[in-house]
Amino acid sequence: MSAVRMDGKALSAKVRGSILAETKALKEKGVTPGLAVIIVGNDPASEIYVRNKEKACAECGFYSEKYALPAETSQEELLGLIAQLNQSPQISGILCQMPVPEHISEQAVIDAIDPKKDVDAFHPVNVGKIMVGNFDFVPCTPAGVMELLDEYGIDPKGKECVVVGRSNIVGKPMSMLLLHRHGTVTICHSRTSGLAAVCRRADILVAAVGKAGFITPDMVKDGAVVIDVGINRNAEGKVCGDVAPEVMEKASYMTPVPGGAGPMTITMLMKNTLKAAKLQHSL
Ligand code: NDP
Repeated sequence: MSAVRMDGKALSAKVRGSILAETKALKEKGVTPGLAVIIVGNDPASEIYVRNKEKACAECGFYSEKYALPAETSQEELLGLIAQLNQSPQISGILCQMPVPEHISEQAVIDAIDPKKDVDAFHPVNVGKIMVGNFDFVPCTPAGVMELLDEYGIDPKGKECVVVGRSNIVGKPMSMLLLHRHGTVTICHSRTSGLAAVCRRADILVAAVGKAGFITPDMVKDGAVVIDVGINRNAEGKVCGDVAPEVMEKASYMTPVPGGAGPMTITMLMKNTLKAAKLQHSL
């Protein structure tokens, strides 16, 4: 039997529709959510992400500003721009597309963004809040995964959840969100021994590794829910996930790549921006 495909594209369109409706209501109260997106240099993948973020802003009725800075921009100049945007009343959320050029400290950029405008939820204040379980913004990719689980009626409560990957942007916050929802969470990484056996315990398996086809059917329990966060390119240059397609025959639910977890990420950024606007205006 083949797994139910968890359709992130459809859910994303539905959520964007409800964000647009809320934005219209906010505008009647004189508030327009605004997102500032900064990109430094011209990494082609980053340019695509930034374009998609601008498109999503338009779809949700937001105001947006884009700052495309040359690769030789100094850290001081970048932090200066962020300081300005922190003060701008039109801007509810700020994000700086990562990676930034090597001469700029990623952490310094993250630290400079006002936590109330940190719609990526990377600032240490927001990271701490996620740990405590009392947060306004949730990192976009894990937030999108949680929405997908909810949409398909999958409750992590009491379930064995295994997250493969421990990055600050996906693996760690993903694990925290599952834990807050009462999952029994195991986090795996490159030094985990007996990885396949650990993965086979999972009722919910999340792959955030960055290696095409890394999760193979022998690593998956029959009937498990498999969430594929990976975005990779295979030998033919086609976009593919971290999970081998044959896993579809073993899982009960699975996110396709593309069209699963991916589309949800930018939608969650929009959700965080809307929330930021509401919080800043005490609405
Ligand atoms: P990172 O490279 O930051 O983290 C990868 C993680 O995988 C690390 O924790 C690493 O372990 C672990 N890992 C690597 N090799 C192995 C192995 N052999 N066995 C077990 N664990 C391993 O990646 P990200 O978290 O940023 O992204 C992961 C994937 O998700 C990528 O494909 C990325 O493109 C995609 N992504 C998708 C998004 C979306 O919108 N859907 C958004 C963000 C990312 P260790 O810590 O020990 O090195």
